[in-house]
Amino acid sequence: MPADVVTMDKIVSLCKRRGLIFPASEIYGGIANTYDYGHYGVLLKQNVVDAWWRAMVHDRDDIVALDSAIIQHPRTWEASGHLAGFTDPLVDCRACKLRFRADHLDVASCGRKPSKRPGEDAACDLTEARDFNLMFETTIGPVRDGGSTAYLRPETAQGIFLNFRNVLQVARRKPPFGIAQVGKSFRNEITPGNFIFRTLEFEQMEMEFFVPPAEAERWYAYWLDARMEWYRSLGLRPDHLRLRAHDPDELSHYSSGTSDVEYLFPIGWSELEGIANRGNFDLTQHARVSGEKLEYFDQATGERYVPHVIEPAAGVGRSVLAFLCDAYDEDELGGEKRTVLRLHPRLAPVKVAVLPLLRKDGQPELAREVRAALMAAAIPSEYDESGAIGRRYRRQDEIGTPYAVTIDHQSLEDRTVTLRDRDTLAQVRVAIDDLAGELVRRLAAPWRSPKLD
Ligand code: ATP
Repeated sequence: MPADVVTMDKIVSLCKRRGLIFPASEIYGGIANTYDYGHYGVLLKQNVVDAWWRAMVHDRDDIVALDSAIIQHPRTWEASGHLAGFTDPLVDCRACKLRFRADHLDVASCGRKPSKRPGEDAACDLTEARDFNLMFETTIGPVRDGGSTAYLRPETAQGIFLNFRNVLQVARRKPPFGIAQVGKSFRNEITPGNFIFRTLEFEQMEMEFFVPPAEAERWYAYWLDARMEWYRSLGLRPDHLRLRAHDPDELSHYSSGTSDVEYLFPIGWSELEGIANRGNFDLTQHARVSGEKLEYFDQATGERYVPHVIEPAAGVGRSVLAFLCDAYDEDELGGEKRTVLRLHPRLAPVKVAVLPLLRKDGQPELAREVRAALMAAAIPSEYDESGAIGRRYRRQDEIGTPYAVTIDHQSLEDRTVTLRDRDTLAQVRVAIDDLAGELVRRLAAPWRSPKLD
């Protein structure tokens, strides 16, 4: 297997060049840890989210969907422990006025030039570490001073716990069952860098699985396996994925067991998803603070209990970054370097490019007809007639399009097109009438990263 050529800089520049992801507020000089998704980035992100919904909801009988509010009652965060404990230790530099995470000083850069580690220069003047809450505050009400303080959610999970009783009653569920949610969360992260790995606002894909207490360990083990398999099934190379169990002193206050799914990013092994056995902490806390009963009564056995919760919590942006890093590849084609995203076809923003060889002789018209047939078959495609064919292939390779269809003079004679495979570069002629069927078959076939060969 050749050495991996991917670096974070290459990913950042490809994302900008091909319009997947842009730095936010760029015309104003940017804003730290904040990015915008462009056309192909939106499509890629949506495919990741769709794959998650499919695994969590569509392909099973025991999980239902939820979309809860970003701003909940402020007491939510008192009960969850976030108000008191969701903090990072920060130090300020009185000299350069910058702020650093006390536990990240060894990787931070001081404000002066040439930059050093904070505290390294004689002129640095660091304060003691102080706890700084990561929740963004806002105010509800028309008058700023008279309004009440509320918080942007730092995780989607709490909205699920607040709806536990609704789902139990209305969706007629009994443990074991789960509630899944995808949505934005917000954290006032101050450690800069590493592209979309750590951002101020980010989408989470979280699922809370409520189980009888005696079954918690078994379900925890089940979700560790299931989540690892999800990433592998979408093409992440198994040697770039691992599960790391938290040491007892690393565990969150609520957790009796947590493991991180880690991916070998260009910055090293880092968390992609956390899977926690949260016990009955959250339901018990919300019951205590709200005064409402949050428990399950089994009419068959007469048993009453507070379910335990297993939580797989993943980040959409971090998953997108892992899929991009895993897919990034370079090779040589006709003496020229080619950059190619070897994305799993299910994740690729565009599945097939439709390219007339020439912009004349009836080729664009026939190509439009081919594209209409692909649209009718619900295969995401893109039409492109601008520039040399080689450059058009290159553009599609860089956004990970697994197939390209070329319409040439022969197509007008015998209604066949060439079908090019992004990874093998093999080209075969296919009848236009068979094209959609052939693509559906190929797109559904098992796929393995060519980077493993
Ligand atoms: P980290 O240790 O990296 O700060 P965490 O352990 O606090 O992450 P969780 O609270 O377990 O993260 O959140 C679940 C998932 O949400 C993470 O695995 C990650 O994919 C995603 N996530 C958390 N914080 C951020 C962030 N600031 N930017 C992007 N994704 C994030």
